[in-house]
Amino acid sequence: MKIICIGRNYTEHIRELNNEIPDEPVIFIKPDSALLRNNAPFFIPEFSNDVHHEVELVVKIKKIGKHIPLQFARDYYDEIALGIDFTARDVQSKLKEKGLPWEKAKGFDHSAVISKFLPLEHFGVVGSAPIKGLNFSLLKNNQIVQQGNTDFMINSIDEIISHISQYFTLKIGDYIFTGTPAGVGKVNANDQLTGLIENTEMFSFQVF
Ligand code: MG
Repeated sequence: MKIICIGRNYTEHIRELNNEIPDEPVIFIKPDSALLRNNAPFFIPEFSNDVHHEVELVVKIKKIGKHIPLQFARDYYDEIALGIDFTARDVQSKLKEKGLPWEKAKGFDHSAVISKFLPLEHFGVVGSAPIKGLNFSLLKNNQIVQQGNTDFMINSIDEIISHISQYFTLKIGDYIFTGTPAGVGKVNANDQLTGLIENTEMFSFQVF
């Protein structure tokens, strides 16, 4: 199993970090040791003073594929979850300055929160219809801090899957984080993070 993440997929989030809109999807990978599931608590790692939440829709791959044409990408998933791509922003900024890879900032232990998966039908996506206008949000201590809608993705989930599969064979059970909307911010000890897709609570866990 691998965890593939897309960076810079929502314009407002690109602006808040003063990044440029990429001309093709930005891809990075987290190891399986990054997974955090079942509402387990998140412990802020000692090497960072600025760990940010990035709430993202996550899709689970259901069949193996390479060089997947865009028009067939929808056949490769039928369940979604909500996740957090925890990012040590201070570490990432230093690495970016030097033009180095992001793994220490993005792939550390428990940096990939993933909720339970639900079938797309649960959210009114029938059969093999594309996902349209799906809302998701993150609450920190019961205040909304991030709100996203799939219509505002620069690259759609199908485009992401097609693009990734040009480089990496997708296997059953692989996870894809699809990018975060605006509103990323620091987490602190005792924060409670709760994520929703539409009105369905997907996760709720505490930061220590
Ligand atoms: Mg992200």
